[in-house]
Amino acid sequence: MQAEKNKNRHIFGPVPSRRLGISLGVDVIPYKTCSLDCLYCECGRTTRLTCERQSFFPPRRVLEELQAVLPGIPHLDFITFSGSGEPTLNSDLGRLIAEIKKISSVPLAVLTNGTLLFREDVRRDLHQADVVLPSLDAATAAGFARINQPHPDLDLDRVIEGLVAFRKEFTGKIWLEIFIVKGINDSREEIRALQRALRRIQADKIQLNTLDRPPACPGIESADFATLEKIRDLWRELPVEIIKRASRREEISAFSSNLENSLLNTIRRRPLTLEDLMTLTAKGENELRRYLDVLEKEKKIQPVITGKRIFYREWPEKGR
Ligand code: SF4
Repeated sequence: MQAEKNKNRHIFGPVPSRRLGISLGVDVIPYKTCSLDCLYCECGRTTRLTCERQSFFPPRRVLEELQAVLPGIPHLDFITFSGSGEPTLNSDLGRLIAEIKKISSVPLAVLTNGTLLFREDVRRDLHQADVVLPSLDAATAAGFARINQPHPDLDLDRVIEGLVAFRKEFTGKIWLEIFIVKGINDSREEIRALQRALRRIQADKIQLNTLDRPPACPGIESADFATLEKIRDLWRELPVEIIKRASRREEISAFSSNLENSLLNTIRRRPLTLEDLMTLTAKGENELRRYLDVLEKEKKIQPVITGKRIFYREWPEKGR
């Protein structure tokens, strides 16, 4: 999720998010404190690798910032704990969630790497969230070490047991993300091991993703759509969706330049939402998103939040 810089230290956005709609970010971790050092991390390398929970900031400061910005925002789909590290490392997380629930009725989401869910206090802290979005990129010890470069105290079996235990207790939604990196965690053995773990975890959604922006470690490559589609087919009994953004036209099967030009011309005339474009073109959400992803990547269009919705508009020319 991209942080929109403002004067606040802990609150960023709102930002248009693929997974969460219009989302206001809450960052409660000092850069870049995490229990993992994932090869693909878009925040850069982990400089403080730790599994120790701490009170990093006075919770009051976070709540004051939030209270200051909320009245100026007409609509939010989610308030989301995310940012530049692992939110469950903050030992005030449960208290913060409880306090935010008192001041806002906006659904609350937590993005987490899930590695500390084996701890009862961490699971309890997350009970009041509406949606928890953990990640799990590997289910073999070798794969976990390769892609996530974990803190030495972390044990993969415990991590998976933590996710299973959390599912049993948590009444909200779990949307589990799996990041696939070419040649790192896309082997048949890894995909089968993940499938076994996913059957036990029983997430409400499994979201397959791959690199979109430059990763922490240079030289690693994103998986292509065909690989993600193959994985989804292998896991057909599971609720899998692909959330990778298309970055090249070749990734759009049966690409139509007519449709692309018509989308661009329509958006140039006036900003439109994805739903507007679906009505106008009679095309499905997934297909249209791929065209919009490419046009956005090429800086021809951009998503903007207006009122309660996300509109696509022409990319503003410099100096305009
Ligand atoms: S868990 Fe998230 S923040 Fe931590 S290194 Fe991995 S991608 Fe980055």
